[in-house]
Amino acid sequence: MTAGPPPTEAELVSAWDHALGQPAPRRPLLLLGREDADRLPVGEVAALLLTTARAWTGDRVEATLDCPACPERLEVDFAVADLLAAAPDRQEAGPATGTFTLRWRGHQLTLRLPTPADLQGAARAGDAAAAERWLLRACLLAADPPLADPDATLPEVSAAMAARDPLGVVAVTLTCPGCGTTTEALLDVPGWAWQAADGRVRRLLGEVHRLARAYGWSEAEVLGLGPHRRAAYLEQVP
Ligand SMILES: [Zn+2]
Repeated sequence: MTAGPPPTEAELVSAWDHALGQPAPRRPLLLLGREDADRLPVGEVAALLLTTARAWTGDRVEATLDCPACPERLEVDFAVADLLAAAPDRQEAGPATGTFTLRWRGHQLTLRLPTPADLQGAARAGDAAAAERWLLRACLLAADPPLADPDATLPEVSAAMAARDPLGVVAVTLTCPGCGTTTEALLDVPGWAWQAADGRVRRLLGEVHRLARAYGWSEAEVLGLGPHRRAAYLEQVP
């Protein structure tokens, strides 16, 4: 899968404005500007969001997490390229359908990879174990012969999904500099991408404000300047 061209600044502002009227889990998906975003495998969406948002963050993923054992805030900092290197090259593998088969104790299982829409459904299932079972029910398309206890397949199915969609869950291992506790945390790629877009748009709107006040230009005119001419004009504005 390849990302389309990056959004123009005007498209980004428009997508952000539209997204703010949507529930928080949907907002990052709207940055991608494609109808099928919530039906793609979760890791594909993460790869597309990393590709889209990297230009706004200097190609870095930075986040802070709470230490589970002390008040310390832990900082994580990755190169986007290193995260994307974990994703399979879809151009070589062909378009991803998200569907695959797995042999499990004499059963032929047909499965599909979880999508953002599935994760939203699973989040309403209750605790983490209930969410995992909910996802399995949603993603297990067929079993031949039928399974007496589908939940027994969970460890193997989870591992097979992780192998096929490595960015589906981005886990990082951190050691707290304050207390030495080592913890594994999940990196929320959609949340990071939305924060990056939100910061970028608010900076852009601040620039629109300064140039509109100085020159009387409209928002569309200021955004239409492009980043280099806009920066040059901003240098002239006290
Ligand atoms: Zn700590």
